[in-house]
Amino acid sequence: APAPEGPPTVAEATAFVDAVDGELKRLWQRAARAGWVNQTYITEDTDQLSAAAEETNMEYLSRMIPAAKRFDGLKLPDDVARKLHLLKIASVLPAPSDPAERRELAQVAVGMQSTYGKGKYCPKPGGKGLKAKDGKDCLTLQDLSNVLASSRKYDELLEAWTGWHAIAPPIKEKYRRYVELGNKGAREIGFKDLGALWRSGYDMPAEAFEADTDRLWTQVKPLYDELHCYVRSRLRDHYGKDRAVKDKMSGKAPIPAHLLGNMWAQEWNNIYPLVEPFPGEASLDVTKKLKKMGAVEMVKLGEKFFTSLGLESLPPTFWDRSLFTKPEGREVVCHASAWDVTYEGDIRIKMCIEPKEEDLITIHHELGHNYYYVYYHKLPVLFQQGANDGFHEGIGDTLVLSVTPGYLKEIGLLDKVSNNPKAETNFLLKQALDKVAFLPFGKLIDQWRWDVFSGKTPPSEYNKAWWDLRMKYQGVAPPIERTEADFDAGAKYHVPANTPYVRYFLARIYQFQFHKALCEQAGHKGPLHTCSIYGSKEAGNKLRAMLAMGASRPWPEAMKAITGQSAADAGPLLEYFAPLRTWLKEQTKGETCGF
Ligand SMILES: [Zn+2]
Repeated sequence: APAPEGPPTVAEATAFVDAVDGELKRLWQRAARAGWVNQTYITEDTDQLSAAAEETNMEYLSRMIPAAKRFDGLKLPDDVARKLHLLKIASVLPAPSDPAERRELAQVAVGMQSTYGKGKYCPKPGGKGLKAKDGKDCLTLQDLSNVLASSRKYDELLEAWTGWHAIAPPIKEKYRRYVELGNKGAREIGFKDLGALWRSGYDMPAEAFEADTDRLWTQVKPLYDELHCYVRSRLRDHYGKDRAVKDKMSGKAPIPAHLLGNMWAQEWNNIYPLVEPFPGEASLDVTKKLKKMGAVEMVKLGEKFFTSLGLESLPPTFWDRSLFTKPEGREVVCHASAWDVTYEGDIRIKMCIEPKEEDLITIHHELGHNYYYVYYHKLPVLFQQGANDGFHEGIGDTLVLSVTPGYLKEIGLLDKVSNNPKAETNFLLKQALDKVAFLPFGKLIDQWRWDVFSGKTPPSEYNKAWWDLRMKYQGVAPPIERTEADFDAGAKYHVPANTPYVRYFLARIYQFQFHKALCEQAGHKGPLHTCSIYGSKEAGNKLRAMLAMGASRPWPEAMKAITGQSAADAGPLLEYFAPLRTWLKEQTKGETCGF
């Protein structure tokens, strides 16, 4: 079409953004279908099809975003102005306008994800260490994660950790190029770099957002430090029979990254048996019962929580089209995700479910995304997002906070529940290993990327900067020497997959805020950690109202709709864990805390 003549008008801006919204929906549907097939059937061909669709999206946005500049400074109705803003930040990876560079960026992006998805550790044949099962030669991330979760042998854990991290060096060169091209694309549409674009999705200036994130971290850091101190002392008890290992964990030393039950030391629930405050007091182990269930049955259990609040049942297509278990004979991306393939309610989850508690929690998390889709898919596609991305990540987790021992007994996953202070401490410590342990990790990944995108961290210091941040925030160190030949950030899915991460940090804070507000709606009396909103239609109504808003209003309004407050606040998280802190302080009296 020829360039419009004369000064821009409100009517023209409205027509423009509506047309873009319609075309984006068509393009995103196509890309989502290609992406779904690619991630559930990784081959050279599906890689190419998915990359081609991504490239088309990038190309379209790289034309429409500059075209929207015409309306800068024009006084517009709120919803039109908001759509234009959301258009500007619609891609987390805006492409450069040069077609060759755009194609290269799309291929680099898909290539990184594909290398990660196919990553495996293949031990030397005949070696003494880890072995693949079922006659296979190699161990997948899932196999290696299971080793980290359940093994208590220092060297075996080290082999699993090192084996997985060896998949990442081939990603490094691609990542360097992705940073260059992604930054170029971001600059062309008016951002300083890709990180500045990512930080501008929070209804406040990028610098104000960064400061707000620091404020929340400062609120929770003392609690994290207390947990770290306690866990380090217990790990030293267990692994310290070996003198060298004991020395490694003495005084203010960081914890070796492979001992915390998770490949990235991001959640520590798997080492609960090593740090259980009162062993034998009220087992909270539901895994035994889950082993008798199938994957679909576990998902049904998750759905039941949502419907108990008065929310809709999942549609039949969800059950037909989702991927629930790892298929034989083909490569898939097992990293759990939730989809609306048509942006019209064709919702699905993609997971490789195993009968364990961690996966039951992940199911609730993914269903939280799906219920957002269920309630906002009638909005214009630009509004089909969370109030901010932290909201999207926090919904399912909010419900999981209601999965209390009392609730688990009610649905038959626990035989008995003891209500005494010891059982309560066990429960809260278990929760802290998940929720509190995660906080520094949730913050540092994007801290690292923001510095990489801004150029503060050059490619020659990728790995050093990564471990500096892990030390500073998590108090965790690599178990063996690392060099710049390693690319340890690339061994975490969200880095090669180009998925911003600070949303998960925000979600951990928000979910306690949401939980407290919904518990008040449900009429809960007593300490916050004993509340379950299961079955409360009042809480469900509040939740539904917020979900239906999507991204149509600035997030503080959505926050207000559910909590009555318009700022983020870690107060409810601290309130939830208050009884645990008293106990942790007593336990660590003789310890040198900190790192
Ligand atoms: Zn999620």
